[in-house]
Amino acid sequence: MSTKNVENVIIIGSGPAGFTAALYNGRAQLSPLVITGNEIGGQVAITYEIENYPGFPEGLTGPELVERFQQQAERFGARIEYDYVTAVDVQQHPFQVRTQSGAVYQAKALIIATGATPRKLGIPGEEALTGRGVSYCGTCDGFFFRGKEVVVVGGGDSALEEGLFLTRFATKVTVVHRRSELRASKILQKRALENEKMSFIWDTILTRIHAGEGGAVASVTLQDVNTGAEREFPTDGVFIFIGHTPNGWMFEGQVQMENGYIVTNKHMHTSVPGVFAAGEIQDPRFRQVASSVGQGTMAGMEAEKFLTELEDKQYAELRAEILGEALQPA
Ligand code: NAP
Repeated sequence: MSTKNVENVIIIGSGPAGFTAALYNGRAQLSPLVITGNEIGGQVAITYEIENYPGFPEGLTGPELVERFQQQAERFGARIEYDYVTAVDVQQHPFQVRTQSGAVYQAKALIIATGATPRKLGIPGEEALTGRGVSYCGTCDGFFFRGKEVVVVGGGDSALEEGLFLTRFATKVTVVHRRSELRASKILQKRALENEKMSFIWDTILTRIHAGEGGAVASVTLQDVNTGAEREFPTDGVFIFIGHTPNGWMFEGQVQMENGYIVTNKHMHTSVPGVFAAGEIQDPRFRQVASSVGQGTMAGMEAEKFLTELEDKQYAELRAEILGEALQPA
């Protein structure tokens, strides 16, 4: 275990929200420390193409955007630590941050931008066959399905976007959706419905994923949600895009949370003064690169303001002031 010097601000997470907060705090001469999490760039890093982030009319790849975010933050003095935060203690100030590598950091302000990860179906065969035909990332694994047939689960933007991407490799992409209406945006629906390689099975769920002789996915059991009838459907791969789970377990009991998401006010303040949150960890609704960038901007600016005020006050005094409470006797 190694305890470090007190940081001005630690940013937990390296997606669009985290890197944007780092850019703002870097430009404010705060020398922010970014603790990346398991995957630098988060979900953007595993997104093939981003065409709705303003300023890039031709679109660009997720990894390219992450690299640009990182370069821009580092240009202004952000420091990057490749580690995973396992616990925080924000009941004391400076706040304490512990990581998987055993490091213990202290910081005057915290920005939480840990995002979310793909949700699992929780059906037999799913876990055992992950990496053997079951995947949550078309961009990462699509290449392995060249000339094969795959099933995509879900009816949202992710399912259709990734399904369309998979048509570059697979000969057939079958979208299995639990309703008869898609949730995805109209533009993606149009593209998917017009794509010759894509077909749809409506009102249907997967109840089991089966392995073949080689130990990889060979088929799935489909169930009609109206009749309950089951049938086996042969496939080489199963790509699951059924939403996300926020990455917030390490903040439980530290800041106010709801359904796994961190609760913030409209200025990205959490329930603890000096702790801010931005991006998908506090936003189950918009979940866009552009909205996360906006929230990262707000969190960065508010953290800067908080640190300026902290120059003239004790934390307890500033905390009481922000919370509108009477100052507790020491
Ligand atoms: P989502 O919009 O929540 O869609 C999840 C889909 O999975 C829904 O169709 C849902 O069915 C289905 N589903 C959920 N649980 C299921 C289960 N247990 N079994 C079977 N199906 C299940 O998630 P998303 O597609 O990941 O998108 C999340 C957000 O990111 C959205 O706001 C979306 O607009 C945004 N996004 C945008 C883009 C883009 O702009 N290009 C790309 C990707 C994502 P129901 O429809 O029946 O609920």
